[in-house]
Amino acid sequence: MKQNKYKILLVEDEDNIRNLVATMLETAGYQAILAKSCSEAKMMYTSYLPDLIILDLGLPDMDGIHLLDHVRQNALTPIIVLSARTSEADKIEALDRGANDYVIKPFSSGELLARVRAALRNNRFSAEEGRLPGGRFTLKELTIDYDARQVYIQSEPIRLTQTEYNIVALLSENCGKMMTYAAIIKAIWGGYAQEGSIKKLQVNMANIRRKIGDKPGKQNYIANELGVGYRLNE
Ligand code: CA
Repeated sequence: MKQNKYKILLVEDEDNIRNLVATMLETAGYQAILAKSCSEAKMMYTSYLPDLIILDLGLPDMDGIHLLDHVRQNALTPIIVLSARTSEADKIEALDRGANDYVIKPFSSGELLARVRAALRNNRFSAEEGRLPGGRFTLKELTIDYDARQVYIQSEPIRLTQTEYNIVALLSENCGKMMTYAAIIKAIWGGYAQEGSIKKLQVNMANIRRKIGDKPGKQNYIANELGVGYRLNE
C-alpha cells in the first residue's frame, strides 16, 4: 500500500451510496474513511485529519452543515457537499459557509472524481504557491503571471482591465471551487450582492470569457452555474 495516499472522509448515511463512493475512491487510489452521521464524522475528522471531506447534508443526527461549520472554525480542508437538495438557495448557503463545491445526487463517478481532483489540486496550489512573488498559475493553455498581473493564452498576452484581471486571479486562487456571486463581489468590490452588482459581475465575466476564448457549449475555462456562481475548471 502506498504511504502517501490522500485521506478522504466520506460522510453519508445511505449504505448504498457510501459503499459505492468508497469503492470508487479506493479504486482511484484514495484512502476512504467512512462516517454515517455528523457526530461520527466529527470524531473521524479529529482522529484522521483528512485531506478532503465529501459531505452528505441529510444526516440522521444533524444537518451536515454543522460539520461544515465545525471544520471551518479552524481548517480549510476542502469540502465537497453531496446532496439531493437542488435549490439555488441551498447551494449558495453551503458554498458561502465554506464548502468548496457542490455535487447533486444522482451524480456520475467521473463527475465526483473530477471535483475531488480539482479540490485537492486547489488546496495544494494555495498551500505551495498562493500569491507569492514569482508565483505562476497554469491551466491548460492559460497562464497567469501574478507579479506582472498578466494573463496569457498560449503565451499570447490577453488585454484585461484591472477588474477583469482581479476576477481571473481570484478564480485561479480558487481553481475548481464554485464561487458564489456574493463571494466574488465581496472580494472584488467589497460590497454585497444585489441586482446592480451581480449585473456588473456578469458584464465583466462575459468580457473575460470572450477575451480568453470561452464559447458557449464548449469545454471552457470558466463554468457558470446560473443563479449560483462561477468556477475556473480544472
Ligand atoms: Ca442522507
